[in-house]
Amino acid sequence: MTAVILALGGNLGDREANIRAAFDGLKSHKAISKVKLSPMVESFAVTLDGVDESKPKFLNAIISLETSLNPKELLAFAQEIETARGRVRLMRWDSRTLDIDIITFGSTLKATKNLTLPHPRAYERPFVLVPWMLLDPAAVLPGHGSVSQLAADMLDQVVILK
Ligand code: ADP
Ligand code: MG
Repeated sequence: MTAVILALGGNLGDREANIRAAFDGLKSHKAISKVKLSPMVESFAVTLDGVDESKPKFLNAIISLETSLNPKELLAFAQEIETARGRVRLMRWDSRTLDIDIITFGSTLKATKNLTLPHPRAYERPFVLVPWMLLDPAAVLPGHGSVSQLAADMLDQVVILK
């Protein structure tokens, strides 16, 4: 079994219901266990041009779990859940009902066309680091160090909901 961190978020539709449905979907998979959901955080949309306050706000959360799936299988399952929640892939960084990214997969280091681990932008994303810190204050992001320390400078960029 490998310990995994997933980041979930969306800014269209019933954002909380979509995150909770993903949580339930992950819990129901035979090869996935110990699924835990962080508190949710809200923040402004970020596009390729920076923060865009005119777009609907994002709701984000972190899920930790253990799985006997390999990274490719887990990504495929996550994408099935995204599709089931009505995700339409238009372009990267665009508004979406639900995005699920794999942040870390055990200690796996990997960079292929379809999967980079750890997630290359996790270290700079308040909406990943703050809920991750709340779920596990001792968490470490390989290559970047303590998640709590990284998140400390970003607390003002998200609103912690519950
Ligand atoms: P984004 O999350 O960048 O807005 P998508 O969710 O559409 O965009 O993902 C684009 C592609 O990113 C996916 O098809 C997937 O193959 C790839 N990808 C690379 N690394 C990861 C990762 N760590 N977690 C999730 N997807 C990843
Ligand atoms: Mg994604």
